[in-house]
Amino acid sequence: MAESPAAETVEPLFSSQEIARRIDALAGDIAACDLHDPLIVAVLKGSFMFAADLIRALHGHGLTPEIDFVFLASYGESTTGGEVKILRDVTSAIEGRDVVIVDDILDTGQTLDFAKSLIKSRGARSVRACILLDKTARRQVDVTADFTGFACPDKFVVGYGMDLGHRYRELPFIGLVKSED
Ligand code: 5GP
Ligand code: MG
Repeated sequence: MAESPAAETVEPLFSSQEIARRIDALAGDIAACDLHDPLIVAVLKGSFMFAADLIRALHGHGLTPEIDFVFLASYGESTTGGEVKILRDVTSAIEGRDVVIVDDILDTGQTLDFAKSLIKSRGARSVRACILLDKTARRQVDVTADFTGFACPDKFVVGYGMDLGHRYRELPFIGLVKSED
């Protein structure tokens, strides 16, 4: 059977099976924290697929969290870094709750640092972060995730919600775009 055009140009790095296994372990780790009135805040757009699978895995571990979204965008450099702006804010009450921020990639750290400060400033009882991929090589801000899916090489990855120029978000795996030369 012919592969889709996208699959031909993206070299798999983490398969959907690997991702699913890791997410179940992450959900177990989060469930073990015994969170009070838990609120999951997924950072759009990149985390939508990860968040959806993580939330279903959390259900399997007995959690009944409320779900919200914050749409953040960073400006100032081509693909990441620079100033972070809120394109869509959370609407849930945050005061006194244990919040878990979910994002796709921790890269320079600007986005997660911003998101954590935002949630803390709204009076959360605690703020944790669950990140699918950690690119430690490019960190500029001293911020850490409480739960991490995979260490990620210092390469641009796509798929599983993550894009390159609005493409590849639909892929069920994470991969590297092969260069044309
Ligand atoms: P940070 O603010 O930590 O530099 O950037 C985090 C955000 O940059 C991620 O949530 C993601 O949206 C984007 N990003 C960083 N590295 C990559 C990458 O390799 N691929 C894609 N698609 N997005 C990335
Ligand atoms: Mg993102």
